[in-house]
Amino acid sequence: MPILRQEPLTGEWVIIATDRARRPETFAPQKKEKKAPSPARVDNCPFCYGNEHMTPPEVLAYRDESPKADTPGWSLRVIPNKFPALEQSDNGEGLFIGNFFESCQGYGVHEVIIETPEHNRHLPDLNDYELALVLKSFEERLVSLAGDPKLKYVQIFRNHLREAGASIEHPHCQLLALPFTPPLLDIEYRRCRDYYEEEGRCLLCTLLEEEEKMGDRVVLENDSFLAFIPFAAPLPFTTWIAPRGHASSLEVSQDNWEAKLVPVLKGFLSKLSQKLEDPPYNLYLHLAPLRSEPLSYYHWHMEIIPKLTIVAGLEMATGTYINVSKPEEAAKFLREQKVNVESYK
Ligand SMILES: [Zn+2]
Ligand SMILES: [Zn+2]
Ligand SMILES: [Zn+2]
Repeated sequence: MPILRQEPLTGEWVIIATDRARRPETFAPQKKEKKAPSPARVDNCPFCYGNEHMTPPEVLAYRDESPKADTPGWSLRVIPNKFPALEQSDNGEGLFIGNFFESCQGYGVHEVIIETPEHNRHLPDLNDYELALVLKSFEERLVSLAGDPKLKYVQIFRNHLREAGASIEHPHCQLLALPFTPPLLDIEYRRCRDYYEEEGRCLLCTLLEEEEKMGDRVVLENDSFLAFIPFAAPLPFTTWIAPRGHASSLEVSQDNWEAKLVPVLKGFLSKLSQKLEDPPYNLYLHLAPLRSEPLSYYHWHMEIIPKLTIVAGLEMATGTYINVSKPEEAAKFLREQKVNVESYK
């Protein structure tokens, strides 16, 4: 008989198929066409080293060699998106317009974080230092964007491969700073606040303790971070990574959180790639609103959703998902894959 499970953080109900459940290994493509490996540099790729003139001027870069902006010698660059979804210009008429039909100027910031100068190195291929720089850039951009009071929330996300929405092959993440708090985040904030008021503690801290105690949905962990498949995962292999220590956003996290997250993130992405043949995925962070004081009720986390099934009518109509993979089986399947990443348990 199928089971309904409710996700504590969002309140969403998920149907976990039992009779129709697929075994974890069936999510790996049966006959994936072997693509020729990409070269380290592609002449017409705007994100490759040597092509810095093809992008808008960088807003942040980590460079070891050349101190000159928009020249080679960098290990990470953050640039404004050349075709931004939102723009940081204000016509002075006030941001929000309308009574019944509300609208708003398309105000915001859309940036691209180019994770590496090389075209063919994805997150699991980066060394620990390089991967920590990617995470550090998130924090630096948050601190900088917090200076604009019109921006309310910064969504950091990564689309891996074309099927997950990546239009440029070169490894990159994006951020979109919005002039409002997105509704999905509002739901998480509200439920976490309610829980805190009733129970006197953070919902996610409690959830992490429960996951740890049960252990059967944990994929990997170290002293500072836990990667697990949530109890009511809406889609196969949905995984969350959260800090064990309470923190509502990156800039209020414990010192050196980046270095501690690296082995868990890299370990998880390596397992996923090896077990399911480098599937497309979306990865994103859920953080406290911009400029908020450290919040005792909200706990930041990363969500990773591999694109292995098609989201269809029922899900779109109701927000209720049918997961054809049991979270515990998916976690076990990934746990079994040994990966060559040092320093995680
Ligand atoms: Zn490139
Ligand atoms: Zn917490
Ligand atoms: Zn979340």
